[in-house]
Amino acid sequence: MPIRPAGRTAGGRRVSRGLSANTISTKMRNIVIFGAPGSGKGTQSDKLIKKYGFKHISTGDVLRNEIKNGTELGKTTKGYIDEGKLIPDDLMVSILASVYDSFGKDHEGVIFDGFPRTIPQAEALKNMLAERGHKVAAMIELDVPEEELMKRLLRRGQIEGRSDDNEETIKKRLNVYHTQTAPLIEWYEKEGIRHHIKGDGELERIFADVCAVVDSL
Ligand code: AMP
Repeated sequence: MPIRPAGRTAGGRRVSRGLSANTISTKMRNIVIFGAPGSGKGTQSDKLIKKYGFKHISTGDVLRNEIKNGTELGKTTKGYIDEGKLIPDDLMVSILASVYDSFGKDHEGVIFDGFPRTIPQAEALKNMLAERGHKVAAMIELDVPEEELMKRLLRRGQIEGRSDDNEETIKKRLNVYHTQTAPLIEWYEKEGIRHHIKGDGELERIFADVCAVVDSL
């Protein structure tokens, strides 16, 4: 038998024993992966899911899927996305709660990718989780210099053809990030759960830094 810390499985996950349906699962690690557009949230989320088996909510992916499927929600939100603007908070919060509940009550944790993007969204997330006896365990901030963000997004626009990855919309999205989303750094700092990571450089080094935070939870 390999040696591993008490209460951990081979994958490093915490083990919960004999929890009743109403008990908060101590193994649950809900994580907000945070950063500007192009900071690598999606890439790091994919790697975390593979390593830890977390669930994943990318609000951008949810919306792009709705648009692709031609739903009412997709029709309502397309204009905002194409203009690089945020979808109204009420709408985002209700989408988020329904996706979150679709994961059931007992999971390893959810990675919130692209949510919250405003202080009201962060407050709503905190309340929504508290109502369910859950919480955000960590906010992991991927900090990437502006020129690097621009380069990455233009490259992604060429490869993936995302309608909002063109120079004009990227500039608007970065502006929205600085004015509406970046204040969350201080908000989570006050909550005592902000973890800063240098998000440029070697991919595996960034992931190792992210994992060090997750393993400390
Ligand atoms: P993303 O894929 O996370 O970069 O999101 C793409 C676009 O979807 C954003 O520019 C917004 O228009 C919209 N969006 C995604 N998440 C949110 C959110 N939490 N609040 C408001 N709008 C969002």
